[in-house]
Amino acid sequence: MPDNLTIARGARLWPIEEIAHRMGVPGEAVEPYGRGVAKLDLSAANALAGRPRARYVVVSAITPTPPGEGKTTTSIGLVQGLQQLGHAATVALRQSSMGPTLGMKGGAAGGGYSQVVPMERINLHLTGDIHAVTAAHNLLAAMIDNHLHHRRQLDLDPENVRWQRVVDINDRALRHIVVGLGPRADGVTRQSGFEITAASEVMAVLALADSLRDLRQRLGRMVIGYTRAGEPVTAEEIGAAGAMTALLKEAIKPNLLQTLEHAPALIHAGPFGNIAHGNSSIVADRIGIHAGDYLVTEAGFGADMGAERFFNIKCRASGLTPDAAVLVVTVRALKYHSGHYRVVPGKPLPAAMLAECPEDVRAGAANLIKQIDNIRAHGVTPVVAINAFPSDSPGEHAVIRDIAEAAGVRAVVSTHVRDGGAGAIDLAQAVVAAAAGGSEFRFLYPDDMPPDAKIERIATRLYGAADVAFSPEARDQLDAYRQQGHGGLPVCIAKTHLSLTADPTRLGAPTGWTLPVREVRLSAGAGFLYALCGDIRTMPGLGADPAAAHIDIDDNGEITGLY
Ligand code: ADP
Ligand code: MG
Repeated sequence: MPDNLTIARGARLWPIEEIAHRMGVPGEAVEPYGRGVAKLDLSAANALAGRPRARYVVVSAITPTPPGEGKTTTSIGLVQGLQQLGHAATVALRQSSMGPTLGMKGGAAGGGYSQVVPMERINLHLTGDIHAVTAAHNLLAAMIDNHLHHRRQLDLDPENVRWQRVVDINDRALRHIVVGLGPRADGVTRQSGFEITAASEVMAVLALADSLRDLRQRLGRMVIGYTRAGEPVTAEEIGAAGAMTALLKEAIKPNLLQTLEHAPALIHAGPFGNIAHGNSSIVADRIGIHAGDYLVTEAGFGADMGAERFFNIKCRASGLTPDAAVLVVTVRALKYHSGHYRVVPGKPLPAAMLAECPEDVRAGAANLIKQIDNIRAHGVTPVVAINAFPSDSPGEHAVIRDIAEAAGVRAVVSTHVRDGGAGAIDLAQAVVAAAAGGSEFRFLYPDDMPPDAKIERIATRLYGAADVAFSPEARDQLDAYRQQGHGGLPVCIAKTHLSLTADPTRLGAPTGWTLPVREVRLSAGAGFLYALCGDIRTMPGLGADPAAAHIDIDDNGEITGLY
């Protein structure tokens, strides 16, 4: 099979206006941004509101290996399969950050014959939304330091500023910095740092806001630090929220592209999957939900993380509820959960994992069973999608089918990477049947449950923990947030995505362990509290041989080395 870039480059794009027209989006809401790319004005959601509501399908996965198990590819394959069955289907995805694209994970436009195109655009800048988030975020940072310099009225404590700077490049050397070096005229000296733009609260806000007005209000509510007396200081008080919203005026409009088989693809926002909710934007879903028969969206990482935040944060904010879920599983991930292989993040998976071994697939079953249960905990029964890799054997697929069927869910093999939508027809049929059956969706916890109890509910019910150990600092922070009126917010648990626990080396579905909550932070604009468990990096580094070292461009402007 040709590589992803070669397949993507061979695509014949339909005019993007044609894709929008098929969704029912009026021409005046389509703003072209170069060949095959347009932004959709938010008026598109209103224009479509009277049309029937599509079935809403969320795609999640078992706990992945470091390279990922194919949620993005499966989401794209599924809409192509639905389309081959005669349904109008739209896929909604996050925009990829350039950190992983130039680092080690590669791009996020799918793979093989299930890709969104033009993939070079998606993976590098697209329409500049991420840079707009960077600019808005850093404007606030500059205004905070300016505030300190001019000693404005707020008495902001320079040692308690919680707003760093961001950039969309993996750069470990920027994790810790000192700003304001030099003479007094060059600002107040203090320690700070950089995070990757996807980790910015502004990105989480962009994904959850439902209008320009809501965006403006959420940005204003963001807490950027504390006064010397310990009172929270917001972006509104710094005076930055209006200008930040102005900088994001275009970024709030979803981007429309197409899959290789011309299904509409809404690519919008890219909140980090560990400290933020890791789901694409609500405004894109508001458009997609009235643009056809099915709207398929991907939730980042495994079902314990992305799907949990999809259900309890995104759906809570949008009011949209899912009709069906897909749980992506691979032979290699179940082998990984057997614990029989040494997998090192940043290194290729060991070659031994490619050899046929149904016993090891069976040995990893506990994680699949747990993640099925995690989706069911929200009243939704998933369809298990076995994302077929060239190295898989039919015997290994049969083992996965057995495990799923014993758990009472349907499992289908999907070859959408090799065969495009034709390879996902069985999956599409299973999803159609599941969505027709309907779901009895429910949140895992009510708004008014105290935040520590919400964390305990997620840890014990979804992660399999026996209990939660809050540090004294975390307890104090939870008390303070409750007193400040934030106790009703949902919680986002920041932990590794490579394990159901907070320790990336623990595979399968461990029980009897304790989730350690080190610190709890407030994202008052995005509208959640996030609990830090284990080592969480918000600025990745580059590996010894980053993808960037293999990317080039020829005299005709053709990029090579993206994957
Ligand atoms: P996720 O969204 O779960 O992180 P992706 O869909 O981005 O996963 O896939 C991760 C990587 O694995 C990508 O490089 C993709 O091209 C590759 N991949 C996914 N599915 C397959 C498959 N069935 N065969 C070969 N490569 C695949
Ligand atoms: Mg993905």
